[in-house]
Amino acid sequence: MSTETRIISCNCGVSYERSEQRLPIKDIGVFDCEECGARLDMWSGRLVPMFKRIAGTAPERRSA
Ligand SMILES: [Zn+2]
Repeated sequence: MSTETRIISCNCGVSYERSEQRLPIKDIGVFDCEECGARLDMWSGRLVPMFKRIAGTAPERRSA
C-alpha cells in the first residue's frame, strides 16, 4: 500500500497536495488545475489521487 503525500506545483503558481486513495472499483479520471486548466494528472485503476489546494501565489477569487 503506497499512500504517500506529495506536493504538485502548477506552472501558474498554484500548489496542490496530492495523496492517493485505493478504491474498491476502478476509476478513470483526470485532474486539471483549478486556476489555469492545465492537465496535472491522469489515472486509470483503483489507486486514485486526491488533490487538495494549498497556498499558492494566485489569490482566491470570489464571485460577488
Ligand atoms: Zn495552473
